[in-house]
Amino acid sequence: MNPQAASLGIASLPVEARTRQTFLPYHRPTIGEEEIRAVEETLRSGWLTTGAKARAFERDFAQYIGVRHAIAVNSATAALHLALEALGVGPGDEVIVPTMTFAASAEVVIYLGATPVLVDCEPGTLNLAPADVERAMSSRTRAIMPVHFGGHPCDMARLQELAAARGVRLVEDAAHALPASYRGAAIGTISALTCFSFYATKTITTGEGGMVTTDDDAYADRIRIMSLHGISRNAWNRYAAEGTWAYDILHAGFKYNLTDIAAALGIEQLKRCEAFAVRRQAIAERYRRGFADADGIVTPRCEPEVRHAWHLYVIQLELERLRIDRGAFIDALKARGIGTSVHFIPLHLHPYYREVWGYQPSSLPTATAVFERIVSLPIYPDMTDDDVDDVIAAVTGVCRAYRR
Ligand SMILES: *Cc1c(COP(=O)(O)O)cnc(C)c1O
Repeated sequence: MNPQAASLGIASLPVEARTRQTFLPYHRPTIGEEEIRAVEETLRSGWLTTGAKARAFERDFAQYIGVRHAIAVNSATAALHLALEALGVGPGDEVIVPTMTFAASAEVVIYLGATPVLVDCEPGTLNLAPADVERAMSSRTRAIMPVHFGGHPCDMARLQELAAARGVRLVEDAAHALPASYRGAAIGTISALTCFSFYATKTITTGEGGMVTTDDDAYADRIRIMSLHGISRNAWNRYAAEGTWAYDILHAGFKYNLTDIAAALGIEQLKRCEAFAVRRQAIAERYRRGFADADGIVTPRCEPEVRHAWHLYVIQLELERLRIDRGAFIDALKARGIGTSVHFIPLHLHPYYREVWGYQPSSLPTATAVFERIVSLPIYPDMTDDDVDDVIAAVTGVCRAYRR
């Protein structure tokens, strides 16, 4: 403690009045010397775009998840688009998507000329509610897209039952769920197709990037071809010594391949995926204990049958016990040096979905109500225990200061 603080008696201040010397950002990726060296080596190698590094990243990822195929692409949005395309989703089809998600999950359905049917969430996990999925299913339903909100796997047994009964496919948006498992099965091995994200804020990152996993050879083939202009297999190495100049365009594909620069980063990040997950889990546990007596917030649920990836730590404000709303709560945390975010503004509340697809706030009432209460707290491996304690002190302090 510095002498000035001692003379002010700061040591004896209650814990909630502590303020940080520096602002704690909502997120910071963990990038070490290994990542920097791997990217530098790739830059010096003379091969920048999709090549040996991308293939190695795919092999490592497939092995880590325990799945036959992993296809690297330049975003999870691309992965989801390709996954639905491989299923043959097109005009006239409906795909069930939770409203409590990011823009990407539903827009890819629209890319294909199909209709996204938004469904409500469960108030606890904020995952899509199976009962709502069941109600939303019709003769046009081609696929269901569970999003493992925050890294908590959805109720896959119930969803598989619903999908099987109607002969529809599950395409998992696992952008938050690396690594995660449901009843012992790794996310990425359960459904026909699963899509991961390596966006800058996700549990591992390549800056921008994504991956599709599948055990199905035909889906894997289709996705690989469509990810690179619909041209024949292995066309990516046509400029290498062992490559050939010849290629066939088989379909009108897309430009979704992952660069070797990004893959080099991904290979190193994947090696640290378990260690990152252990640290996030420890932070979640420290939050849970730290908030045990907090009055004014509800901490996130974790069902015993899952391994949670803890990509997000979303608290819900008990607004009836507070004199401030969510916006003011976030401002108060910011004033105490704590960065936060909100995941998500439900899709059905956005102008596009209201104006084009006719949704209203009352269409999906749980998500509409929950949205007013959610705040995402920082949770990333670079946080120290002191950082976590500062967040706990700030949150409990704000709750106390604005108690009704
Ligand atoms: C981040 C995110 C995506 C999109 O990931 P990109 O790799 O940025 O395309 C999709 N779905 C959810 C739920 C996400 O959070």
